[in-house]
Amino acid sequence: MGMARWWGQTLVDSQRALRLPCWAVIPEFYQFFLNTKILFQAGISQNFGHECEQLGVQKLFLICDPFFAQNGLADSIQEALANSGIQTVGRFSEVPPKSEIQVVQKCAEAAMASGAEALLALGGGSAMDTAKTANILFSLGGDLVNDYSGSQTISEPLKPLIAIPTTAGTGSEVTSSAVIFDEASQSKLSFNDFNLRPTLALLDPEITLSMPPKLTAMTGMDALTHAIESYTSLQANPMSDALAMKAIKIIKNHLLSAVRQGDDLEARSNMLVAANMAGIAFDHAMVGVVHAMSHATGGIAHVAHGLANSIYLPFGMEFNLEVAAERYAGIARRFGIDTRLLNTDEAARAAIAYVKQLRKDLYVACGLEFRLRDVGVNEDQLEAIAQAATEDGTSFFNPREVGYDDVYLKIKEAY
Ligand code: NAD
Repeated sequence: MGMARWWGQTLVDSQRALRLPCWAVIPEFYQFFLNTKILFQAGISQNFGHECEQLGVQKLFLICDPFFAQNGLADSIQEALANSGIQTVGRFSEVPPKSEIQVVQKCAEAAMASGAEALLALGGGSAMDTAKTANILFSLGGDLVNDYSGSQTISEPLKPLIAIPTTAGTGSEVTSSAVIFDEASQSKLSFNDFNLRPTLALLDPEITLSMPPKLTAMTGMDALTHAIESYTSLQANPMSDALAMKAIKIIKNHLLSAVRQGDDLEARSNMLVAANMAGIAFDHAMVGVVHAMSHATGGIAHVAHGLANSIYLPFGMEFNLEVAAERYAGIARRFGIDTRLLNTDEAARAAIAYVKQLRKDLYVACGLEFRLRDVGVNEDQLEAIAQAATEDGTSFFNPREVGYDDVYLKIKEAY
């Protein structure tokens, strides 16, 4: 998600050079632009034929992971579409949790051969990111890694993409980025372009009811990390702030309920909306050191993205405490902490303590690990992770410079 070329570049470059957040004032320049239509309704995934018609689409190609092929959801969506005259002319249901370049290529080839006019992604971040990048090849052809990895590399709009998120975490249904593992370089490659945003995002909380507790917890912590990091990013702006703060409050109120009572539709609805809002926030503001460490850990030690974010979140907040205390104090209030008798530093520390406690509560509720050593990371990988974190593009948007020595210490603490 980090990038050299990005809109608002002039401001961001100068801010980045000075490490000068402009949180207290309206930035000299910001841009807010969302080319995704968002619809929320329980059951909407079974009733969107008219939306396809509005897009001029009669033939869809469905992309999902094996879970939805097996549990019958993919079939029932296809059937509902067929009842409104929309044909599903092909399906790719082999998206693994860690999607990679060859999977995307295979998926795009199948989509091209099917004669579809548009893509439909059903799944978590892995399926949606696979569909987003497959859409590049499906629409424009070319070489995915050499022609399109990096930032703002897509010169024209892609074919329509409809995204149905099945986790409440990544926000990928509204973001302009996709992250795909590259076997050749053994790293996660970023693709960033406005044209990658899905045309239509359908938020159906009923679909998220099937998430087991631990998946609910880790994806919910992913959304919380998006909200907190976008709020303290160098590129934060009043629009992203509003979305991030609202998302934090919703997650505070509903994450534990969604984990403890998976059939609580109200909690599921709130979490899906919060993840969506946090996605829009970070897509505009960007993220920071927590994501830098998570991307590095995902690439080197293959830890799931949401889990890595959950482990690193309080350590990243501590890392930024000296420059972001005021913002963390605001977050403390969203967490429901009474900060009236606390100074800024105390309030900020209370926010970090809250996140640490939340991780403990999640561990008790569903066993969500909170140390790197418990999720398959070896101590001899920590140096490589710290090095990769300093080089990750998201570091550039962090309010404090991400130097090797300091970030290594935090990673060691998280171990
Ligand atoms: P995921 O898509 O990798 O899915 C993880 C597992 O959960 C899969 O086995 C899947 O079958 C299962 N699953 C998904 N929905 C389910 C449901 N409703 N019920 C039961 N099981 C379900 O998980 P994720 O956390 O959503 O996505 C992670 C990926 O998203 C990573 O690759 C990460 O890099 C990427 N990501 C992308 C963005 C973006 O803006 N593009 C942002 C954050 C993360």
